[in-house]
Amino acid sequence: MPSPQLPNSMAARDVAHVLHPYTNLVKHEAVGPLVIERGKGIYVYDDQDKEYIEGMAGLWCAGLGFSEAALVDAAIEQMRKLPYYHGFGHKTTGPVVELAEKLKAMSPLPVGKIFFAEGGSGANDTLIKLIWYYNNARGRIDKKTILSRIKGYHGVTIASASLTGLPANHKDFDLPIARIKHVDCPHYYRFAQDGESEAEFVARLAKNLEDFILAEGPDTVAAFFAEPIMGAGGVILPPKDYFPAIQKVLQKYDILSVSDEVICGFGRTGNWWGAQTFGYQPDFISCAKQLSSAYLPISAVLVPEHVYETIRENSGKIGTFGHGFTYGGHPVAAAVALRTLQIYEERDMLGHVNAVAPRFQTRIAKLGDHPLVGEARGIGLIGATELVADKKTKRSFAPTAGVGAACMNFAQEEGLIIRAMGGDVIGFCPPMIITESEIDEMFDRFERALAKTMSWVS
Ligand code: PLP
Repeated sequence: MPSPQLPNSMAARDVAHVLHPYTNLVKHEAVGPLVIERGKGIYVYDDQDKEYIEGMAGLWCAGLGFSEAALVDAAIEQMRKLPYYHGFGHKTTGPVVELAEKLKAMSPLPVGKIFFAEGGSGANDTLIKLIWYYNNARGRIDKKTILSRIKGYHGVTIASASLTGLPANHKDFDLPIARIKHVDCPHYYRFAQDGESEAEFVARLAKNLEDFILAEGPDTVAAFFAEPIMGAGGVILPPKDYFPAIQKVLQKYDILSVSDEVICGFGRTGNWWGAQTFGYQPDFISCAKQLSSAYLPISAVLVPEHVYETIRENSGKIGTFGHGFTYGGHPVAAAVALRTLQIYEERDMLGHVNAVAPRFQTRIAKLGDHPLVGEARGIGLIGATELVADKKTKRSFAPTAGVGAACMNFAQEEGLIIRAMGGDVIGFCPPMIITESEIDEMFDRFERALAKTMSWVS
């Protein structure tokens, strides 16, 4: 990595001028950035032309890798024709209409309408507002509390960061806001009690949820947000039958459910939607990231017909549906997203994910034998290893020891970009175009990094 001390280097100019997201800003001034210059397939290259396998598809998003010419062509074509327009006040553009049709056709729920925003946070914020608006329109003015889960991740705006159940997103930001509350994280490995079976764990979580709703007052609880797999919280898979058990409780108290498919959507888990993989039948879906393979920012909210009808009537009474983003449904982003979804179908991306996932999961599972790995988990083309100080007792390393971060740095030395999350969880979520031999290369590089981590901790 070039030193930020080198005058006028890109690294030094970055340190001088850029405020980085999700970065220890003090450390950044000492170590400087990794400057990524170009990409090809599942690989990216830094400014010294060092090659890295992008084991996280960027931020769980570049499903088609880093050099898909058809997406570039789609963007250029739309740029030339109409580089910008919007949907306010009865306007529209062709790509937005076609993308809405396509998403409706792919949706696992009976969707009435699709709302477009620019990113996952904006989509989830929109959903909270829609749900409040909907309940006001129905005269249920007290039914407003939104539930999400400890370790869930739903974004960083004031409301979506409040949904997020991770301490770093709340601490010193004066969050979460009122009316957003957190319930249990369904991580069996971490939160099951001694001797508790998976089925007992699920039953306990469902009971806790019901008790929580009763204590709050069912007439005050509006909705429940969940990612099918918790991504940034540590790639946490729900235990068997978790979603059906939770949904039974939600339905009993007339509580709407949202599947945040920002990571899981579009094939990542081996189905188009993560909800399908885990038997979750939500009322709403939010999606982004792989929707455009991340080539341009766009997100979508799938709204059921009956909710739309209520919103429609209310907007008629008020005079407008007073919500929308300048860049929501940007025609160039929509054209790229539409092309992305066509490519997923043309190239049978689901078939590909299901063909290579067994190799990916075999390699992840094998990591479970390593003395540093407490749990190795995953499904489809997403997975994680949780590094622990004591495999038998599941004791974690002290957070200040920085073991996950060290492992991530060793991986970078080995030419692999992965993500260290809280609790020393190392995430893998490569571009979905990855081949079996590339999967092997990725895990070979990781195994070398893990060996270096082992020597470093001992
Ligand atoms: N929801 C989930 C599940 C996510 O993983 C993310 C981002 O990683 C978001 C929402 C927020 O999306 P964005 O960063 O585009 O606002």
